[in-house]
Amino acid sequence: MDKITHDKWILSHRGTKNPVDPFKPYAWLVEKERQMSGVIEDTGTIFLTNMECPFHCLMCDLWKNTTDRPIPVGAVPAQIEWALKQMPLVKHLKLYNSGSFFDDRAIPPADYPKIASLLKGFETVIVESHPKFIDDRCLQFRDLLQAELQVAIGLETVNPDILRKLNKHVAIDDFWNSTQFLTRNGIRSRAFILLRPPYLSESEGIYWAQKSIDFAFGVGVECCIIIPVRAGNGVMEELMKTGDFHLPKIESLETVLNYGINLRAGRVFADTWDLGLFSTCPKCLEQQIIRINFMNLNQEIVFGEKCSCEMNG
Ligand code: SF4
Ligand SMILES: [Zn+2]
Repeated sequence: MDKITHDKWILSHRGTKNPVDPFKPYAWLVEKERQMSGVIEDTGTIFLTNMECPFHCLMCDLWKNTTDRPIPVGAVPAQIEWALKQMPLVKHLKLYNSGSFFDDRAIPPADYPKIASLLKGFETVIVESHPKFIDDRCLQFRDLLQAELQVAIGLETVNPDILRKLNKHVAIDDFWNSTQFLTRNGIRSRAFILLRPPYLSESEGIYWAQKSIDFAFGVGVECCIIIPVRAGNGVMEELMKTGDFHLPKIESLETVLNYGINLRAGRVFADTWDLGLFSTCPKCLEQQIIRINFMNLNQEIVFGEKCSCEMNG
């Protein structure tokens, strides 16, 4: 519990990176997402390949699909061009780059004009960034885009002690400053919020995820995404061994999602990737996935029926 997390300790547990091609995104997908207007529309995500994020957050495994060095100017536009050729036509696009879009060593600003020209015709473009990189570069990119720019920021948790232990090199005030900067400049923001980061019990995990949603909406964020914390980067497995990290329960994800939707303060989505990890009952899981997807899309709460597993304790 008192273990001081630091870069060296986190890095020492890492495995190897996956081979990546600087001229191809490492993945792309299209999924339905509820828009602010209430309409459910296809939204594409391109997972850009670029240089590793300079931070080494405790829970992060995004480094796996990154390069060690900056990639050449022109490579990111080539990746986007390639992905758009594969994807069906969509109006909304996320460019997620395993770090910060506005980190010059990840996405060279010299590429902004070409990227913006490739994105003509989109209604919304969503990028992600650490608060440290949210500055005039956002405005520079926004001014080149025809689409509405939105920026997703990892708030993670408003528990200050846990936030420090996550090694993100960010304070709650930094998040606040970034959202204020974006709002002042007419850019909407989204917050990634962790469900049960290390060092928290299940009930504390729920409590702090709910507090984090309250905070995010309070500072003007338009959309919150709840992410159940997973292992997978080496150090999280180590924390599981020492009892400092436990996977959250899928029931807790539903609880927090219900809570967030009930606030009616903005859109709240649960991250649905690999939900089986958080479940112990396959019978429940099937229904839970249906409910969570429904709640994500409709922003309406659905309660489930009791399963036999609950009766047996
Ligand atoms: S800032 Fe984001 S991408 Fe960078 S290490 Fe932290 S979680 Fe990973
Ligand atoms: Zn069950």
